[in-house]
Amino acid sequence: MRILHLYYDLMNTYGDRGNVIVLYEVAEKMNLNPQIIRYTVGDKIPPRSDFIFIGGGEDWQQEIIYRDFMNLKNYILEHIEEGKPLLAICGGYQLLGKYYRTQDGKIIEGLNIFNIYTVSGNRRMVGNLIVESRFGKLVGFENHSGKTYIEGSALGKVIMGDGNNSEDKTEGYIYKSAIGTYMHGPFLSKNPEIVKYIISSIIKDEVNLDFSLELKAKQKTLQFKRLNEGRF
Ligand code: GLN
Repeated sequence: MRILHLYYDLMNTYGDRGNVIVLYEVAEKMNLNPQIIRYTVGDKIPPRSDFIFIGGGEDWQQEIIYRDFMNLKNYILEHIEEGKPLLAICGGYQLLGKYYRTQDGKIIEGLNIFNIYTVSGNRRMVGNLIVESRFGKLVGFENHSGKTYIEGSALGKVIMGDGNNSEDKTEGYIYKSAIGTYMHGPFLSKNPEIVKYIISSIIKDEVNLDFSLELKAKQKTLQFKRLNEGRF
């Protein structure tokens, strides 16, 4: 199982690379022979892969990578259209959309694969996020000023926190098996349901691993909902 980790050296807010570690470990447990391919600015177009990951980053990292990212547009589009899974967090999620307009009005062009666009707001949306989704409740931590407006399917509905834009209660985006979300965490260590979804869309079979400990941890997070409601 080939995992492509995009901009591993630049897009890694709040340890987003932990998502790659989680997936690698699970795949190894399942004897899927995982291999991680790392890609960054200026590298050759990577070989086809089974899963693509891109983490979050601040505006300056997004400015560094976005032109290079454009070179991968066809590669990523084909991957998604074939129904293969992809996970993009925060800054990476924004760059799969049409554009991100920064606080000083600069337009950072995106790949225009997700039908979304993002404009920088004047308040940072920081805190724990709980979302109701078709996978069940998802939890994570958000920190962004970009407000994302979507056309198409949201990953879920915000129960606590801000999500895409703090206005319409949507959080994230899902198209085929490609997921974009504002949830750091790392997202996959907190949400084994998504690990199962990603692996089963690769092996086209069910994943029968015991995630009871991780789900117990999630229950605790959900119980602390009220405590989590405070903002910085
Ligand atoms: N720079 C983006 C924003 O603030 C993304 C931040 C992030 O990836 N954490 O909206």
